[in-house]
Amino acid sequence: MSMMTGKQYRESLSKLKPEIYYMGERIESVITHPAFTPHVNAAALTYDMALAPEFEELLSTKSHLTGEKINRFTHIHQNHDDLVKKVKMLRALGQQTGSCFQRCVGFDALNATYSVTYDMDKKLGTKYHEQFSSLLKEIQSTDIMISGAMTDPKGDRRLSPSQQKDPDLYVHIVEKRDDGIVVSGAKAHITGAVNSHGHLVMPTSAMKKEDADYAVCFYVPVDATGVLHIFGRQTNDTRKCDCFLDQGNAEYGIVGGEALIVFDKAFIPWKHVFMCGEFDFAYELVERFATFHRQNYGGCKAGLSDALIGATYALAQVQGTDRASHVRDKIVEMVHLTETLYCCSIACSCQGYAMPAGCYMADPLLANVTKLNVTRHIYEIARLAQDITGGILATAPAESDWKDPKIGKYVDKYMKGIAEIPAETRIRLIRLLEAMTCGTALAESMHGAGSPQAQKIMIERRANLERKKRLAEKLAKIGDQPKLVC
Ligand code: SF4
Ligand code: FE
Repeated sequence: MSMMTGKQYRESLSKLKPEIYYMGERIESVITHPAFTPHVNAAALTYDMALAPEFEELLSTKSHLTGEKINRFTHIHQNHDDLVKKVKMLRALGQQTGSCFQRCVGFDALNATYSVTYDMDKKLGTKYHEQFSSLLKEIQSTDIMISGAMTDPKGDRRLSPSQQKDPDLYVHIVEKRDDGIVVSGAKAHITGAVNSHGHLVMPTSAMKKEDADYAVCFYVPVDATGVLHIFGRQTNDTRKCDCFLDQGNAEYGIVGGEALIVFDKAFIPWKHVFMCGEFDFAYELVERFATFHRQNYGGCKAGLSDALIGATYALAQVQGTDRASHVRDKIVEMVHLTETLYCCSIACSCQGYAMPAGCYMADPLLANVTKLNVTRHIYEIARLAQDITGGILATAPAESDWKDPKIGKYVDKYMKGIAEIPAETRIRLIRLLEAMTCGTALAESMHGAGSPQAQKIMIERRANLERKKRLAEKLAKIGDQPKLVC
């Protein structure tokens, strides 16, 4: 089998038996349970759009390993064009879903692990890259979705992994056996985890010699023994179970659906282990994964913002405010901020470079700038959307009241904007705007792909302040006067 359709993706998930818990219950099926269906729908679109003629060029490509046509989400970037197409693909998917379609995390984990295992083998004589390439071929040919699991719970932030009182606060090797390793610990906030086929687990930070047991990277199927998932709550998540219209975006949800993945003495065969104690390479893997994931955010969030701007503009028309000069100015400001984010993602892709493994990497400094801008601009875009929407964003009556035989007529009458447009149009737009600008959706822009401080740390590392100082000294005629500062 090569590329799956969305339907085949759902069918393939239904054959798996992962251990998933949500609101105190063991979940039998993520396909049919209303808490998960929007996330499954969004991920399914990464399959269907790859087969749609209008999007095929963005969402599919040729494997550099087999020459076969594959879904881009399983591809290893081979040039600048691949990096740029990735961003365009994410924007296109963001526009269609208005939500997170989750599959990028595993995509980025594949790309980061591919180049790091190559460098490890070159330096240490290990066989990780060859093993990883075999798994990659399998992932490409079966078109499965994998999550990228990096963030550990971290416990006491003052302490390193090996200093924690509870060793499980970072994923670690419990035992090395002839046939593989046994791991324990957990990964937190993992996007798309419950509707993936497997997880690519990576270390979360730089490691020292004493943390060697925590420098571990491996692949594990979602339903392996010793792996369980606890699905997180989201703002207004009970609306998924008791109403439709009030969800705002019932088909695709408001964010990706994150879970805590627990590893309780899970066994990993050697063929699926890609780092096992090589602590020197932990930071490389973290930085490359973070760079790829931060590269994304001006793509997917620009796509979401396109839909959000559209909802704001449509609502202004329904409310009769669309020609007011301040409303037009605010909408233009939303467009400006959105395109600024997109520029950043495109720029870090164009400034990307080839790695020793032959694959391509986005520019780390610009990728971090991209994501840091998202932590600010998305809030400003949401603020402007809420400003234009008005207080009704926070006070609109429930769908059930609107449908009530006795009081529904009042909701209908008083929720109307301009006379020619039904109240239902206004209610639907308000709910979409509520879903896209409140609660979990915004927190995702702040902390997804790492919190702002994580970006600032990487920006400082790459800022080359000493060179900037030399530039200033040359201009101010301080010290030696080189003709050019290199
Ligand atoms: Fe992809 Fe992350 Fe954006 Fe979700 S938030 S669509 S996983 S890049
Ligand atoms: Fe994310």
